[in-house]
Parts: sequence; structure tokens; C-alpha cells
Amino acid sequence: MSDRGKPSPDPATVAAAFGVAEDMAYGAVAPPLYMSSTYEFAGYDQPRLYDYGRGGNPTRDLLAEALAKLEGGASAVITSSGMAALDLLVSRLGPDDLILAPHDCYGGTMRLLKARADRGHCSVRFVDQSDDAAFAAGLEEVPALVLIETPSNPLMRVVDIAPLAAKAKQAGAAVAVDNTFLSPAIQRPISLGADYVVHSTTKYLNGHSDVIGGAIIAADPDGAQDLRQWANIVGSAGAPFDAWLTLRGLRTLFARMQVQQSNAMAVATWLEQHPAVSKVHYPGLLTHPGHAIASRQQDGFGAMLSFELTGGVDAVRRFIDHVKFFTLAESLGGVESLVAHPATMTHADMGDEARAVAGINDSLLRLSIGLEAEQDLIAGLECGLAACDLGGMQGG
Ligand SMILES: *Cc1c(COP(=O)(O)O)cnc(C)c1O
Repeated sequence: MSDRGKPSPDPATVAAAFGVAEDMAYGAVAPPLYMSSTYEFAGYDQPRLYDYGRGGNPTRDLLAEALAKLEGGASAVITSSGMAALDLLVSRLGPDDLILAPHDCYGGTMRLLKARADRGHCSVRFVDQSDDAAFAAGLEEVPALVLIETPSNPLMRVVDIAPLAAKAKQAGAAVAVDNTFLSPAIQRPISLGADYVVHSTTKYLNGHSDVIGGAIIAADPDGAQDLRQWANIVGSAGAPFDAWLTLRGLRTLFARMQVQQSNAMAVATWLEQHPAVSKVHYPGLLTHPGHAIASRQQDGFGAMLSFELTGGVDAVRRFIDHVKFFTLAESLGGVESLVAHPATMTHADMGDEARAVAGINDSLLRLSIGLEAEQDLIAGLECGLAACDLGGMQGG
């Protein structure tokens, strides 16, 4: 079908329909899944568009194109995990290159950067990127790459991408933003000056907790070409079936995000007035220090939040034993609601000291809000909170 005269589609339309009804062989509406690892040459010295699956696969490329469009980039590389996507950027650097990363970045990212630096593959410096002086001092060391993550995990701290990216570029650094927590339905870092956007597609993009995957989207075609080559050299490509599932999940991204963040807002507002809760971290709340930046930089406040219990670790244990409709598990971004205790789960590897510096205490719980009915989520949380203080206090 000719695209001539077709209006430029809204991102929600891209997510729902990119690559639909383009099958030449049978007119299949859902894009076919190509599992083949290798492709027949047309003849002597005549490779076709695809020759070998490590370098390229039609199903994987369709997902890459859809993500590049949604993030406003030139092209994307699909990897076997979010960590593989980050490592694709990191492993391209040399021993003299410095990475400036947030002090409260994703635990796995911190572990990766430290492991690479320990082996002399690059060097890394962690700074509080919301502290202008600390960030400026970091830039004085002339980093090759500045990595930004906002909102942060698990405290949902928000940093202002545009000025950080502008300063980083002025200092000669490339800028990568991990956009996993919001997805392009809510935040588009390339439009704010980023050179690269990194995703764990495991989370919101796939959205159904049944794939581990990652992606990097590059703003300019040269950067994209370079990454594709590097991905082929090191062999970090994701599996075609995973790409197919992720594209299937992506179809409903905008609809899921709308409902999940509306549920999150309701849950955060309800938690904030509960006597068993001492603090709620959600950028949608007026009391959140990042609220103004988030309102400006994001198209919504996302569906992740964390909160602290007044009763300490004992309350955490009772809450986890009694909460309903939330599953105790790591990860996030799926259609089902999850609860995690960062100190003993996602952030256990960080060590007590680094956790204290990042402000992650033992009373903190993180919620990934799903698609369940709002009243059930609140009732389920009430079951947990009511049990926090069995000695008398009846919560909320
Ligand atoms: C989960 C996550 C990653 C790592 O992705 P995997 O798919 O688990 O390898 C990186 N960054 C953030 C912010 C994440 O939440």
C-alpha cells in the first residue's frame, strides 16, 4: 500500500500499528516471525538484505525501527538484555575514557560500570547529578560519556535532562539516557538533547514480564551504524522470538501506561495520608522535590513509586506477609503489580554504605503498579498496612 498522502502518525499509532499488514507473501496482518539464523544468497557474490542472523533479522529490525520512531532517533539496536544494551555503549569506550554516571543509578548498571572499570576497560565516576557543582566537577575531568537515569530507582529522584545534556555536550561528552522507567510514551530524551537512549525492554516496552531484552536508540545515523557494527562484532543481539513478543507488547504501550500511571497516582495519594507510611516517593505528588521538572519534562508521572513505613524492618516483614494483589518480586513495568524491598532484593549488592549514601533505608518498599482495578490495589495495600502495627494502630 502506498504511504503517499498518509498523515504523519501519532506515536500511539506507531506503537499500535507499525509494520502491520506489510507481509508480501500472504498479507498477514500481524508481522511474521522470522526464526532463520541464515539467509540464502541470490547467487555468486550476491548477498540479499539479510545474510546472517547475528548481524540482522527482519523481526528484530522491525522492533528496532518502531523503537527508533517512538524515541525520535535515527535507528536502534536490539540486544539480549538491558545490561547488554548498556554494555554495548560501555565496551565501545577505551581505557582512557571516563564515564560520568549517577550515584543512584540502577544497581546492575553500577555493578557493570565498576566491573568494567576494575578491569581497566574504562574509568567511571559516580556523582549526584542533581548537584550542579558535583556535576560540573565531573565534567572538568572530560568524560567521554555521561549517563543519565531519571526518574531514579528506587527513590524516583528526577533530574533535568536538557541542561545536563547541554553542559555534557559542551564538555565534549556523548550523552546517554536510560529511559526504562518511563518509556517513550512518557519521556523522549533525544528531544531533550540525548545522543543515545537505553532501554531494558524487559520492563514497560514488552510490559508482560515474559521477555528479557534491551535496546539502544541513537539520535544520529552515524552513531546508529557504529552501534550496529559493534553489536555484530560482540554478538549482543536479542533473539527473534523475544523481538516478536516485545513488538506484540509494544502495541498496547500507550494504553497500558495511561491506566498504570493513573493507578499509581491514586495509590500514591492514598499512601501519603496513611499513618503507617512515613514518606511516599512519587513525582506526581506536589510534595515530591522533582515534581516541577517532571511536569515539564514528562508527559505523565509513570507507574513506579516507593514509600517508607513508620514501623521499620518489622513493619516491612509484616506488610510483605499480608499485602494482597502485589507479588513480592524484582523487576517492574508489567501488567501485574509487584512489590520489592530494595535493601534485601534489587539493591542488596550495593552494600550498606553505598545504600546509605543513596538514601535507601531498610524501611523502603518499591511498587510497580499494574493494570489491576485501582480499588483492589488500595484494598490489597491496606491488608499489608493494617498488619504493620498489630500492637494497636489501625491504619487509615
Ligand atoms: C532492569 C533495568 C536495567 C537492566 O535491564 P535487564 O533487561 O534486566 O538486563 C537497566 N536499567 C534500568 C533502569 C532497569 O530498570
